[in-house]
Amino acid sequence: MQAEIPTEERILREHARLGMEDRLQFRCEPGLDCFTDCCRDVAIVLTPYDIIRLKRALGIDSSEFLTRHTISPFTREQKFPMVILKMEPESGRCPFVNEQGCQVYAHRPWACRMYPLGIAEPKNPTPTDRGFHFLIREELCHGHGRGDGCTVREWLAWQGIEEYELLGASYRFLTLHDFWDGDKALTPQQMDMFHMACYDIDRFRRFVFETRFLELFEVDETRVEALRTDDVELLELATQWLRFGLFQERAVKIRPSVLEARRG
Ligand code: SF4
Ligand code: SF4
Repeated sequence: MQAEIPTEERILREHARLGMEDRLQFRCEPGLDCFTDCCRDVAIVLTPYDIIRLKRALGIDSSEFLTRHTISPFTREQKFPMVILKMEPESGRCPFVNEQGCQVYAHRPWACRMYPLGIAEPKNPTPTDRGFHFLIREELCHGHGRGDGCTVREWLAWQGIEEYELLGASYRFLTLHDFWDGDKALTPQQMDMFHMACYDIDRFRRFVFETRFLELFEVDETRVEALRTDDVELLELATQWLRFGLFQERAVKIRPSVLEARRG
């Protein structure tokens, strides 16, 4: 039996490792014969912040966005629910592309921003091992070797990646948590909790304001006001609530009066 090759090693066999100051020469623009070819038959995994940006750009709520534009396939290997952008059933095209290009360009998902850069990250980065980027070369893409070139750092800044990384940190923490090591499986109820908290942020808002959530958990008043309209703040609370509910971490606090009533 062939030994399994670690992911990092496999990536390095096929792609050169790029540091932040290494250069890439790539330009994607209208007029290329491949223009928008990459926006079809592609599995784009959406992060919670991708969904917030897209649903706002489309002026719909997260529940409607999820129903209209995503699928959530679940495989045996998966530990938690994931959400994938649904391509048009007949053409295989992304619902947001037309001849002029991406119609949600300013709000395009993290994965679309990154292309053609890939990223390999260790689960627990250290100062000497923070992971690396690599360049994806696919036959269909003719943007390589074009333009003046830039460093990886400049490319990431140009694509607005920093904001996505910053606002995706809590989700990364959740999905890379030690809890998932081994063979633990979420119950159907926990799967629903995860799906709502991470992806269906407007449903989570209703859950916070229309159930006993705020009677049970200590959330200061300024934050409560922000939660009414601020999706990013709400997402932060949602991931804290999941850490509490799934990993038994004290990321949110139960009100002392509730604890006393339970004891008494
Ligand atoms: S969101 Fe935009 S960039 Fe991403 S696949 Fe769809 S059309 Fe292409
Ligand atoms: S295939 Fe490559 S160059 Fe062509 S539109 Fe897509 S990203 Fe741009």
